[in-house]
Amino acid sequence: MPTVTEALQMMDYGPAPESASIAQDWLKDRSFGHFINGAFIKPGETFAVTNPATGGELAHVAQGSAEDVADAVKAARGAAKGWAKLSGGQRARHLYALARLMQKRERLFAVLESLDNGKPIRESRDIDVPLAVRHFYHHAGWAELLADEFPGMRPHGVCGQIIPWNFPLLMLAWKVAPALAAGNTVVLKPAEYTPLTALLFAELCIEAGLPKGVVNIVTGDGRTGAALVEAEVDKIAFTGSTEVGRLIRQATAGTGKALTLELGGKSPFIVFAEADLDAAVEGVVDAIWFNQGEVCCAGSRILVQEQVAETFTNRLKARMAKLRVGDPLDKSTDIGAVVHTTQLERIRGLVDQAVQQGAVLHQAPVPNGPGSFCAPMLLTDLGAANIANTEEIFGPVVTLMTFRTPGEAVELANNTRYGLAASLWTENLTTALDIASQVKAGVVWINGTNMFDANAPFGGMRESGFGREGAREGMLAYLTSDEATGKERKAPAPLSALPASASGDAVDRTRKLYIGGAQKRPDGGYSYAVDGAQIPLGGRKDIRNAVEAAHKASGWSRVTGHNRAQVLYFLAENLNARARDFAPKDEVAQAVERAFYWAAWADKYDGKVHSTTGPNVTLAIKEPFGVMGVICPEEAPLLGFVSTVLPAIAMGNRVVAVPSQANPVPALDLYQVLDTSDVPGGVVNIVTGPRAELTDTLAKHDDVAALWVFADAETCLSAERHSAGNLKPVWAESRARDWSGPAGQSRDFLRRAVQVKTVWVPYGA
Ligand code: NDP
Repeated sequence: MPTVTEALQMMDYGPAPESASIAQDWLKDRSFGHFINGAFIKPGETFAVTNPATGGELAHVAQGSAEDVADAVKAARGAAKGWAKLSGGQRARHLYALARLMQKRERLFAVLESLDNGKPIRESRDIDVPLAVRHFYHHAGWAELLADEFPGMRPHGVCGQIIPWNFPLLMLAWKVAPALAAGNTVVLKPAEYTPLTALLFAELCIEAGLPKGVVNIVTGDGRTGAALVEAEVDKIAFTGSTEVGRLIRQATAGTGKALTLELGGKSPFIVFAEADLDAAVEGVVDAIWFNQGEVCCAGSRILVQEQVAETFTNRLKARMAKLRVGDPLDKSTDIGAVVHTTQLERIRGLVDQAVQQGAVLHQAPVPNGPGSFCAPMLLTDLGAANIANTEEIFGPVVTLMTFRTPGEAVELANNTRYGLAASLWTENLTTALDIASQVKAGVVWINGTNMFDANAPFGGMRESGFGREGAREGMLAYLTSDEATGKERKAPAPLSALPASASGDAVDRTRKLYIGGAQKRPDGGYSYAVDGAQIPLGGRKDIRNAVEAAHKASGWSRVTGHNRAQVLYFLAENLNARARDFAPKDEVAQAVERAFYWAAWADKYDGKVHSTTGPNVTLAIKEPFGVMGVICPEEAPLLGFVSTVLPAIAMGNRVVAVPSQANPVPALDLYQVLDTSDVPGGVVNIVTGPRAELTDTLAKHDDVAALWVFADAETCLSAERHSAGNLKPVWAESRARDWSGPAGQSRDFLRRAVQVKTVWVPYGA
């Protein structure tokens, strides 16, 4: 006779299937054309959508052509004015109606999502659908409060939105709800594998009485997405792979289209010795085995402190062996089907390569059958350079490495080109917050993982993209302010290089570059002449030196806002004392005022504590980017320099600045003020010379984290295109600003000088 413990161990789960009939009835005899201008149009070319758990066909949907996309954009454009004109309250009622209708159809949405995507019904029912509903409620609120909370801002107009297949309905909600709340109209392209819940949502738009053309949905594959990027839209919001994100960055360069990118990740999951190890093991289940690991922010690299590594790994293997892989509609399934056989092959291919490179594979059993089921996998005994540690696998595969000290944990965590999320496990809050401040990630969960809420900003750093979704910060991505109202800028007249030693009657003084707190001769040894002055002709090498110097000045990003304010006040004071030495005279007094203004902000543009569902402190912390490039405006050589460089450093960035080409003297003369004002060497670096070439070098530089370009259209285009390498955010403005008015000290300078890090701190005794 077995003991009670043995009996419990022998017990298995019985099947607990959710009926598919509600979704099958909805799909029956339905033909799916695009949803344009409030109606489904007759489909032309179609393709089959399949159930990844069975391989069976679910529906046929239309393949969107460039003409279909153009029609949808036309409808969205037609509706844009009317929608934007509605009061916030009126738009809120529409969003609220959509939330209510989604809530009423929760079961249909959940079953349809699981059939289409392969995710367990427990997840679609308890996570995807309720969160999608929450997004519409939350954003109904933002619509209501828009005029009060975002004064002076307006919607972009028509937004093209492209979403992936891992959270089809939730990604739709993340995109559509804020766009509509802000007063935009949208054309959405769902992923080719998973378009069905978007089409069900389209029906709700009709039922909710949403004005025609406000939401348009065009189905299709990557070609449809590419056509939407090329179309006459005002903004592109994309979630998907970093490769496609790069293509979109290049395609939108110079078009004036606003852009937000939410891309891939390779997020660390750090377990410290003092962590609750059982909780951390459950954390891994939620980090990488949730949604088959098809999660951009999945904790896919476990880093565990050496002294607990063996215990932790053994417990993790035991837990992994108990995961149930199988029918997504069974309520006791932990891991459903991978979205498509192509994705399954990709996962297997990457795991094979990881094993060839020396990793040891541990995996749990997986059912046989026609569906694309993938075993949960753990890879151990591998180095940081193993492909499984460098590539986003987008499957239920996690790697495990060890570390000794917190410093090593941070180093390993940041040893990736991505920066989407991180999960930290420790019972020591001091350690947790210290590590949270050091990891390069847009979202950090402490003793938790994959926590989401409509009121918590989500988005990446580095090659994980830019822009935030959710909360106040996410609303800003769908709003713009028209502050650059001047004429299109012209490129400065070409300059001609002189040997640096050249001197003539017209040349009375040799100036130098300012790099790392010292005056430096340009590497090429050439200069150019401007109104009697000899100006150093900086080049690629000088930019590289300046970036290096800026890197070394990293202490500036860690000092307190109060410290930075003191330095900037001193700078303002010194500039005032030396006002007579500076020209143009009409800019000097204003430049002093502006310096005081940005000094005032240095310790005040701080973060927020967001109210999210559940017992959490959810912090939205504003962090500097690190090293920024600033191409200062031609048109106001002193005031423009001060107005752009100072807010960037006030927020803790170190800057490589390229001043006006035609009149760089005031900026070069500023080095004396910087020197006497305790600005540490390397915080401001000044490189003069051919602006277009210097801009491109900064745009391409992998160690420059953000770039501001106030220049002619051609230079702006080139900067955006060349930024696709490390996907740095670029603020490119080809229209002149009135630097002497409010536009010269707009809140945008602060907003664009920081990136938000969301830190979730759950609590409970
Ligand atoms: P993609 O980045 O290709 O897909 C995302 C969306 O973009 C889909 O709607 C896709 O259409 C569309 N798209 C594809 N090509 C273009 C283009 N040139 N211009 C505009 N839109 C385009 O991801 P995949 O679905 O192909 O997955 C590939 C890999 O990307 C995965 O294995 C995974 O590693 C990663 N991925 C990462 C995601 C994330 O959120 N971080 C999400 C999804 C995938 P279509 O579906 O028809 O291809």
